[in-house]
Amino acid sequence: MVPDLTDRDSIQPFQIDGLNLSGRLVRLGETVDQVLTQHCYPEPVSRLLGELMALAAALGSGLKFDGRLTAETRGDGPIRLLAVDFMSDGAMRGYASFDAEGVTAAQDHTATESSPVPRFLGNGLLALTVDQGPDTELYQGIVKLDGATLGDCAHNYFQQSDQVDTALKLAIGDGEDGWHAGALTLQRLAELGAGDEPVFRADREDAWRTGVALLGTATSSELIDGRLSTHDLLYRLFHEEGVRVFDPRAVRFQCSCSDERALAILGQMPAKEIEDLVVDGVLEVVCQFCNRTQVFTPDQIGDAAQES
Ligand SMILES: [Zn+2]
Repeated sequence: MVPDLTDRDSIQPFQIDGLNLSGRLVRLGETVDQVLTQHCYPEPVSRLLGELMALAAALGSGLKFDGRLTAETRGDGPIRLLAVDFMSDGAMRGYASFDAEGVTAAQDHTATESSPVPRFLGNGLLALTVDQGPDTELYQGIVKLDGATLGDCAHNYFQQSDQVDTALKLAIGDGEDGWHAGALTLQRLAELGAGDEPVFRADREDAWRTGVALLGTATSSELIDGRLSTHDLLYRLFHEEGVRVFDPRAVRFQCSCSDERALAILGQMPAKEIEDLVVDGVLEVVCQFCNRTQVFTPDQIGDAAQES
């Protein structure tokens, strides 16, 4: 069968009727490849940022919101910051801030190969923020970076801040056609009890455990291998329990930076600071997310300052 390339950048929601679980399979191809290659990040940075993108897509697609979900890690390790935005329309972007020498040193001198979080991120926090624009309440959940992998940290996040049982598996890899990241999540569905109140029935514990065990059998390469369609993978994992798929959602790399937004920020800075930043008559601003260079003249910034 010819693989459907839209599978590469998609979120596939599904339901397992026999176990009363819902889930989503996230596949990122071009989306994650563009973010990682345009910055030429070192491999450990790429792997963690790619996984965080898959995590953000998995979480963002499970929430009803209109705006932006930001997934961020801040730590005292050589990778100081990882930031990913997932917009409700499927646009994604991400960047990392790190000490290149520190990353290399941690690569060479640390024995704990399989523990990228303590090794590269150190002690810190994983924060998830949903911003639906002005005049709305910001939602934020924060957990300590407590775990060997980002998947472990996400697990802690679910335990601490989610009322709904959630299981998750993340994967990242690079092949001939670039970087791929994947995520598979499962959630318990509430059932209707007396008075149509949603309840999580205790006698469904077995079903939940079965689902988590089946999720555990998915290999990293299955999660990211574009030659295996999302439908085939879900069928392979869950067909005995009756899996149904819903319409997939597309994701793509897209940065929301603009000249207008940059000017609005520059316009609020003190004139003296602007003066110090001007080189050869212009001020250059580089977007951290997409590397785009924006060039402004002091006159443009002066106009923006008057408008603000
Ligand atoms: Zn940008």
